[in-house]
Amino acid sequence: MVLGSIPKWLKTLAYALAISTGFELLYYLKKCKESENEKKAKDNEVEVIFFPDKTVACDAYFSYGCSNASCWLAHEETSTMKLKAFLSNTEKLLDICVYCIASDILVDEVLKLHDQGVIVRVITDQAQALELGVQVGRLRAAGIEVRTNATNFFMHHKFAISDGGQGYDWIIQLVWQCHVR
Ligand SMILES: [Zn+2]
Repeated sequence: MVLGSIPKWLKTLAYALAISTGFELLYYLKKCKESENEKKAKDNEVEVIFFPDKTVACDAYFSYGCSNASCWLAHEETSTMKLKAFLSNTEKLLDICVYCIASDILVDEVLKLHDQGVIVRVITDQAQALELGVQVGRLRAAGIEVRTNATNFFMHHKFAISDGGQGYDWIIQLVWQCHVR
């Protein structure tokens, strides 16, 4: 069959189909690319949490449920509770390098991990380690290795490295601000 013998309406229909299929294909490829980009962005997602919290979290509420009807503590997720959740994902190794360790909620979590066999290593500022409210003594008493700086400069870093418990090697995910509860 020669092209000239094809009815005009059929040619028009064929062109329309070809054009719409082309657009469909382009749309599909664009969607694939967008979904690939979204996945990449999600893989690289970093959540920044800020301290100090405006309210004090109710540890009981997040641990086993709070039955105190007049509890004045926050039952919403605070930065402290997010940080605690991050720490709790550690499977084998947790390194903490922080200027001042004062939150009993976070120290309780670190001690719990230590009891579960997680290797915990801590570096903190030597002057802060002696401050009232700092819980270095509790960590050391439990057998956790805590080292301090041997210079007159502040050891002012605030970060922790956890194996994340999800199969990847190392994650550096947080800023641990000094605050007292
Ligand atoms: Zn409560």
